[in-house]
Amino acid sequence: MAKNTWSTDDPGIAATLRRSRRLFQEHAPALLHHARIAPLLDRYRQSIDLTASRSLSLGVPASCAACAGRGCLCCFEGVERQYDEYLLLINHLLGADGQRESAVEAVCHYCGPRGCCLVAKHSFCLNYFCQDVKLALGADSATGLRGVVGAELQCQWELERVLMPWLWSAGQTAHRG
Ligand code: SF4
Ligand code: SF4
Repeated sequence: MAKNTWSTDDPGIAATLRRSRRLFQEHAPALLHHARIAPLLDRYRQSIDLTASRSLSLGVPASCAACAGRGCLCCFEGVERQYDEYLLLINHLLGADGQRESAVEAVCHYCGPRGCCLVAKHSFCLNYFCQDVKLALGADSATGLRGVVGAELQCQWELERVLMPWLWSAGQTAHRG
């Protein structure tokens, strides 16, 4: 797969990152201690960790690392535009600030030398399994992994349905596209 290089001049992505950082700086203490949002963040983190450990035990990261070594990662330019300031805010709340190590040629903006620098991922990223990974997993493992991914996305959705009205009441949301 040919590599495209994300441009640091892209005003849209830079502005989205700035907005997410501003939201985090203004609201992190309230959100991290909110009676409903804090437990949902914990539950989401646990589901993300479960997906990661299940993927690890099935050998998916090893396949992807081999891909990266050959320069043919499936992360590609443009995916970063799927991430709005609200999903990036959730990443901040989970300790991922969207900063990758800059010395590496990137495809998606969030792709660094050790893979994706985000924790809370868009369904677009989570649901993709290439043919090689599907073959390596086999049907049963692939179905099991999709179930874990589905549970993670459900936790993301449950968090957002509480977080977004909270931000709205704080006057911090525009319409989500
Ligand atoms: S999902 Fe497949 S194509 Fe994408 S990085 Fe992993 S092994 Fe490579
Ligand atoms: S997994 Fe991360 S690096 Fe890859 S396309 Fe998605 S956001 Fe970008």
